[in-house]
Amino acid sequence: MATAEPVTRTTCPYCGVGCGVEVTATPEGEFPVAVRGDPAHPANAGRLCSKGAALAETLDDEGRLLHPEIGGQSVDWETALDHVADGFRETIAVHGPDAVALYVSGQILTEDYYVANKLMKGFVGSANIDTNSRLCMSTAVAAHTRAFGVDGVPGSYTDLEQADLVVVTGSNMAWAHPVLFQRLQAARQARPEMKLVVIDPRRTATAQAADLHLPLAPGTDAWLFNGLLDHLRREDALDPVFLERHVDGFADALAAARASSPSIAATAEACELEPEAVATFFQWFARTERTVTAFCQGINQSDSGVDKAGTILNVHLATGRIGRPGMGPFSLTGQPNAMGGREVGGLASQLAAHMGFDDAALDRVGRFWGAPSLARQPGLKALDLFRAVESGQVKAVWIIGTNPLFSLPEAARFERALRDCPLVVVSDCVRETETTRVADVLLPATTWGEKDGTVTNSERRISRQRPFRAPPGEARHDWWALVRVAQRLGFADAFPYTRPAEIFREHAALSAFENDGTRDFDIGALATIDAAAFEALEPVQWPLPAGAEAGTAQLYADGRFFTANGRARLAAVSPQSPTDPVDAEYPLRLNTGRIRDQWHSMTRTASTPRLSAHQPEPFVEIHPVDAGLFRVQAGDLAEVTSRHGRLLARVQVSREQRPGSVFVPMHWSRPIARLARVDALVPAHVDPVSGQPAFKHTAISVRPAAMDWHGFVLSREPVSLPEADYTVTARGPRHLRVELAGRGTPPEIADWRTRLDGAGEWLEFADPAGGRYRAARIHEGRLVCVLFAGPDRGLPEREWLGGLFAAESITDDERMALLTGRPPNGQVARGRLVCACFGVDETRIRTAIREQGLATCEAVGACLEAGTNCGSCRPEIQTLLNEESEAPTDPVAREG
Ligand code: SF4
Repeated sequence: MATAEPVTRTTCPYCGVGCGVEVTATPEGEFPVAVRGDPAHPANAGRLCSKGAALAETLDDEGRLLHPEIGGQSVDWETALDHVADGFRETIAVHGPDAVALYVSGQILTEDYYVANKLMKGFVGSANIDTNSRLCMSTAVAAHTRAFGVDGVPGSYTDLEQADLVVVTGSNMAWAHPVLFQRLQAARQARPEMKLVVIDPRRTATAQAADLHLPLAPGTDAWLFNGLLDHLRREDALDPVFLERHVDGFADALAAARASSPSIAATAEACELEPEAVATFFQWFARTERTVTAFCQGINQSDSGVDKAGTILNVHLATGRIGRPGMGPFSLTGQPNAMGGREVGGLASQLAAHMGFDDAALDRVGRFWGAPSLARQPGLKALDLFRAVESGQVKAVWIIGTNPLFSLPEAARFERALRDCPLVVVSDCVRETETTRVADVLLPATTWGEKDGTVTNSERRISRQRPFRAPPGEARHDWWALVRVAQRLGFADAFPYTRPAEIFREHAALSAFENDGTRDFDIGALATIDAAAFEALEPVQWPLPAGAEAGTAQLYADGRFFTANGRARLAAVSPQSPTDPVDAEYPLRLNTGRIRDQWHSMTRTASTPRLSAHQPEPFVEIHPVDAGLFRVQAGDLAEVTSRHGRLLARVQVSREQRPGSVFVPMHWSRPIARLARVDALVPAHVDPVSGQPAFKHTAISVRPAAMDWHGFVLSREPVSLPEADYTVTARGPRHLRVELAGRGTPPEIADWRTRLDGAGEWLEFADPAGGRYRAARIHEGRLVCVLFAGPDRGLPEREWLGGLFAAESITDDERMALLTGRPPNGQVARGRLVCACFGVDETRIRTAIREQGLATCEAVGACLEAGTNCGSCRPEIQTLLNEESEAPTDPVAREG
């Protein structure tokens, strides 16, 4: 690995908070670089969450795609690019431009996005370019555009700190946007009168921190916000002057609100909430001018999400609480550059630079690009695009920086479609994904640490991603590959770029082209930026028109919107229930989402033990009442089935879950877990306006997954084991953990031994009649592997055994205790990891609470450091504090 500068200022590649990071080369250290939060970055001011803090541990090149491939064979870049260009050219010649498509990603940089969008819409002549942001942000885009005339997020992160009331709906911000949540928590600590309301069916870590939690029935948000709009009218809390001067559609919106939610009692009934809780929320909202409503996937990922988001925008527009500090609706973006993709027009429903497909925009963009065959109408949105692959309408698709066969609904169906597609090109940084397995051509891409360009976070802040290491193998930037294919297709003059600054300049110039204040996205001040200034570019919020010296914190401050008449539009919303019906066969609602320490399909975060320790296996979280009804117990394996697929996951029973609903995380992909891909269960139902799928409302059933045998292997060395019905791998400190369970006859012990054999001596315990087997291999005093198998899941906890791999040698006592799986007398078993930043487990925290009488998170932090860095684990520490305070103090009773 080569390091360029001693310190590189770049941006975290994970969530839409967009934290600045400083990377320092550490040639002598355990990892090649050290990472810390950039104190000068406005998004995080030096903070990082557990994922960001572990970035240095994820730079391993294991599993990287290093060379171009055609049909599984390595080829040189020229051959691969010729193949892609020939395939696209021939398909277009025979079947027309709409027979080809690009499917890109909120993970790629703005410069990659710009080139992809210009190539498809301006030169191929089709708008068939869509992005995985369709799955996470397109609802907010559509709702903004309907209400404001453009996709402009009104406010900034500072608004959440300056507000007197923050409403968080459809977001577990504490885990999904942790640094922003920590900013919010710090503001609440400084101003205890500030209130936080969380609206979520689950009592998430975010909800646990709230002053008021509304655990509404899944999918009922529009009833709630419609009820709020009518309540604001009854309480005389609207802003008639703002409505009169700046807003259209109030009468219809109010009539629709009154029809669905005519009273607090009716609203509470529709949302299955306590009327008193609804009344409190409504009163707080009515009385608090400085109110921010932050929303995310719980609103967006719905088949009526645009209307749900519309009801949120309605209450802010009707009260005039927008465009001023401390107030406004605030859409949180999921991916690191979802916003950058929206800027360039990377969604099939946009043209470019926040322009649509109206005649004036088509004329303007066509002239700017010198486009010979500009796409005249919107292209296929993600689900429609893959349906078109299925029907044979799209015959060549280039997928860049995303794994749609992991993330799309009804993924199995689209896997068949892609296998039958004549040309599938995949650009990725990793070799093994669900989608690379069906590709005809693989193009090795650069990734974080190697990429060079810009990203834009949730608050419209553009930041630089800077490289600090050389790409391995033959990995190249995505824009580089796109440019070379464009040149082969005959568009060399329009794609002359040799470095990202040239692309960014053109992107900025297009945003300002014939703008004159008519479009919100304008970064004309950067249209002449030279290479040195681009290199040094500091984070800046758009709009930043030519001549501006600073970015813009609030849009719409003058009450002027970007609709034809300059007035915002309220939406008249008749709420809709989720379309996937719950019935006797599928009686539960499945909610999907993120967990604290993992990112998307785990390609990066699964490579670090400390991020894997928090939740090492896929799980299904279920309320105790439902666990009883469906006969599953904590720790069991359960089968979760929908009308479209099934998965296996470990049961977690939790009162934080709403009865009737279950939660399964989105992260486990096929290379890591055999049958845990949750999006395969989700139907391809989409919002009719945005095309965003409903990932939060699938009807499912849960039942015990009866297994005949269970086992696990911990190994210092790579292992190759036959796949069992349930197979999950996770990284531990200096070892790999493989969880296994199966139906039928367990694997032959001799076969397991052969696969795990090597230098050293074996310790073994076998009980053939009972179907139990335990073994460990030790070489030169070091534990090399352990294997436990038995007929039930009553196997030892893995934490103590896993901890032995970190040691250079094990003691005689530990050796004696190995096959019991329990620590020898005098040693305490490690518990589940709670604080990933400082490696503090549950046992240590509980012990400290008990023995030292700790009563607050601050006291636990002062004692153990837990919770004092990113703070993501503070809700869990609070739960342990609560449980310990409720536990009997009599040690005998405690044990009983
Ligand atoms: S909150 Fe965490 S994951 Fe998100 S950008 Fe910041 S460090 Fe990265």
